[in-house]
Amino acid sequence: MAARGTDEARWLARLKLPSVAALYLHLPFCARKCAYCDFSSWATKPKDPLMEDYVDALRKHLSEAEAAGLLSGCETVYVGGGTPSFVGAPLARLVQDVRSLLPQVSEVSCEANPDSLSDELLGRLLDAGCTRLSVGVQSLFDAELTELGRIHSANQAQQRLGAAVEAGFDVSADLMCAIPLQTDESWRASLEGVIGCGVGHVSVYPLQIEDETPLGERYRSSEPDFNDPEVQARRMELARDLLTSAGFRRYEVASYAREGKDCRHNQAYWTARPYLGLGTGASSMLTREGYGALRKVCPQLPEPDDGTRRVRLTCIDRRHELAAARSLADLHFDLEFLSEVQAAAEDLMLGMRLVCGVEPGLVDHARTVLGESAVDETLAWCVAQGLVAHKGPRWVPTDRGWLLGNILYGRMWDLAS
Ligand code: SF4
Repeated sequence: MAARGTDEARWLARLKLPSVAALYLHLPFCARKCAYCDFSSWATKPKDPLMEDYVDALRKHLSEAEAAGLLSGCETVYVGGGTPSFVGAPLARLVQDVRSLLPQVSEVSCEANPDSLSDELLGRLLDAGCTRLSVGVQSLFDAELTELGRIHSANQAQQRLGAAVEAGFDVSADLMCAIPLQTDESWRASLEGVIGCGVGHVSVYPLQIEDETPLGERYRSSEPDFNDPEVQARRMELARDLLTSAGFRRYEVASYAREGKDCRHNQAYWTARPYLGLGTGASSMLTREGYGALRKVCPQLPEPDDGTRRVRLTCIDRRHELAAARSLADLHFDLEFLSEVQAAAEDLMLGMRLVCGVEPGLVDHARTVLGESAVDETLAWCVAQGLVAHKGPRWVPTDRGWLLGNILYGRMWDLAS
């Protein structure tokens, strides 16, 4: 297919990268399961030997992926969970391996919870080369934290955020809105509290009440007022106003950062940069070329169809199985093969999460593979509905587009059909 111009050619090159731009490592262990959590994580006791075995297996998988050439272009690494800080010393060893195998990486983030982010661990992570900590705070009110089943106190959260900032990390605080007992005033105070700790990045999410969780059980037969869409929208708007007036810039629907403090890793997810996920439940998004490189060390993976442009994989081995897996060849995956058409629609949908919207090269490419009139009519409809605006060479989501995200993202994805 002939590229329309430099922008589209640049975009096309991204769709064929043989190496990933970002690496995600999943540690699925927590001190206790929170009442709202349906993530891939399990509660266990501190220093459970399984955590050490699991991390050792992950370190082997990491070096295999590096030897296969999949990580030569990797720029960022994110260790998520679960609660990576709960794993303790093995987490620092994993970060050390990342640093020695991937010297070109410029950002290494670890998720942490206040109750397991000791001074000792801060020192170990700094020495190992971790640059960024994403701390799960959720609220700075003890009664709200108790409702969520969190095991740390508000005071502990503020204290550990301050310690992490002082130790020299780039620190992000995660907060949750539309939760039980929360008021506009307490939400405002939680936001002001984390800003006061000196963090450079704040992520804000409305609580999602999932069926298979204690909170889902509790509210099975009612739609609680504290979580209704209007409350969610009002709290997200309140966060936007407060954070932007405090000097933070919103760069994604849920993410705010001071100058230079954006999480570069997360941006890969929204800009079609391929990424590799290692660990139980971890997902990867690979180009056809990257999938070919992975198949060299994972001969159990099937050959893609001729029309495949992108592959999404999720590791379905449970934590014990993963800890026992001596190599990537022992793992099992759920697979999804995407055509060029599906990949283009997906990229438009993901790009609409970003303040800067979608790049001209992506729109040119989408017109080529999805049809000029289909793309232009969809964008015109979104503009007429106030969901999207055309700013300079880019198409960007409006505040209304984010508030009605399901409609906006749905319209983009519908282009695949
Ligand atoms: S700490 Fe995070 S991953 Fe662990 S149970 Fe709570 S919400 Fe889930």
